[in-house]
Amino acid sequence: MTSTALEVRLASRPTGWPTEDNFEIAEVEVPTPGEGQILVRNVVMSVDPYMRGRMNDVKSYVPPFQVGAPLDGGAVGEIVAVGPNVTDLAVGDNVLHGLGWREYAVVPAAHSVKVDPTVAPLSAYLGVLGMPGLTAYAGLLATAEFKPGDAVFVSGAAGAVGQLVGQIARLKGASRVIGSAGSADKVKYLTEELGFDAAFNYKEGPVAEQLAAAAPNGIDVYFDNVGGEHLEAAIDSLNLNGRITMCGAISQYNADKKPTGPSNMIQILAKRLTLRGMLVGDHKALQQQFITEVAAWIASGDLKYSETVIEGGARQAPAAFLGMLRGENTGKMLVQF
Ligand code: NDP
Repeated sequence: MTSTALEVRLASRPTGWPTEDNFEIAEVEVPTPGEGQILVRNVVMSVDPYMRGRMNDVKSYVPPFQVGAPLDGGAVGEIVAVGPNVTDLAVGDNVLHGLGWREYAVVPAAHSVKVDPTVAPLSAYLGVLGMPGLTAYAGLLATAEFKPGDAVFVSGAAGAVGQLVGQIARLKGASRVIGSAGSADKVKYLTEELGFDAAFNYKEGPVAEQLAAAAPNGIDVYFDNVGGEHLEAAIDSLNLNGRITMCGAISQYNADKKPTGPSNMIQILAKRLTLRGMLVGDHKALQQQFITEVAAWIASGDLKYSETVIEGGARQAPAAFLGMLRGENTGKMLVQF
C-alpha cells in the first residue's frame, strides 16, 4: 500500500463564485487506524451544493470548513486496515462515511455504514439511495405533505434531488409533474426519460410565464431547490392551501450581495399557503421506508436516475464541485478515485 496520499484543502474562502484557487491539493502520510477506527481507501465521493455554504465563515446547521484543513463530505470506499477493537467491519468491506475529499480516510468505525455493492453500485449510496434520495422522499412526502392528485412543480429538476422528487410525485399519483432546469437537453431528459408532464428551461424566459404556461390549472406543491425568481413564480402559481418545501436556494449560494425576497409574499396569506423548511438530517425515521420503496421502484424500472461521474480523484474534485454549481451535472455529481 502507498505511504502517501492526496487530500483537498480549502486554501481560502471564496467571495461570490468559488474558483480553483480556493482549493489546494496536499500530499499527506497515510494514517494508521487507532482504537475503534478503520482506514478506508475512497472509491467515490460526493460534491454537494451545501458545501458552498460551508466555505463561508458563518455559523449554520453544519460548521464551516476551516482554511488550510481538508474538506469533508460523503464518500464510499473500501476498508484497507482496521484498528484494535473493530468487531463488525473487516478489510475488504465497503463503507459509506463522511470523510471525502481525500484518497485515504481514517474513520471511527461507529461513524461509517457498511454498504453492499451487490445490492446497488457504490455510487448509488451517495445519490439515489443516499442523502439526496432521502431529501427528495422526505421533502415531498413529509414536508410538503404530498397527496395523490396534487400538481407538483420542482426546480433543479434534473439534479440529484430534483429528478427523484418529480418521479416520486408521479409514482405516488400526482395529477401533473412539472420541472425546470438549465438546458434544453435536461428539459428533454425530464419529459422523455423521466416521465415529467412538462418541463422548461429557466434560462429561456421569465420563470413565472413559463411556469404559468406549463401549469394552466396551477400547482399544489412547490419543491424549491433554487429560491429567488423560482420561488416568486411558484407563489404566483400555487393554488389555495398550496405547500412549499424549502429545500435549497442554489441561485443564491454564490451571491455577493444579500438577495431580495419574493415580492408577492402577501399571496401566502390570501391563498393560505404553507412554506416549510426541511433538513434531511431530521428525517432519519423515514430512512428504512425510503430505501424499501425507492429500491423497489429502481428494480421494477419505474424510477430512473442518472449520475455525472468525474474521473481523476482528489485532483479533479474541485473542478467537479465548480462544475456542479454551474449545472454541468445531470443527476448526482460524483468524483471517482
Ligand atoms: P443538483 O444535483 O441539483 O446540482 C445543482 C444544480 O443546481 C445544478 O446542476 C444546476 O442545474 C442547478 N443550478 C445552479 N445554479 C442555479 C441557478 N442560479 N438557478 C437554478 N438552478 C441552478 O444538487 P442536489 O440535488 O444535491 O441539491 C439540490 C438542492 O437541494 C440544493 O439547493 C441543495 O442545497 C438542496 N439540498 C438540501 C438538503 C436539505 O436537507 N435541505 C439536502 C440536499 C440538498 P441547472 O443546469 O438546472 O441550472
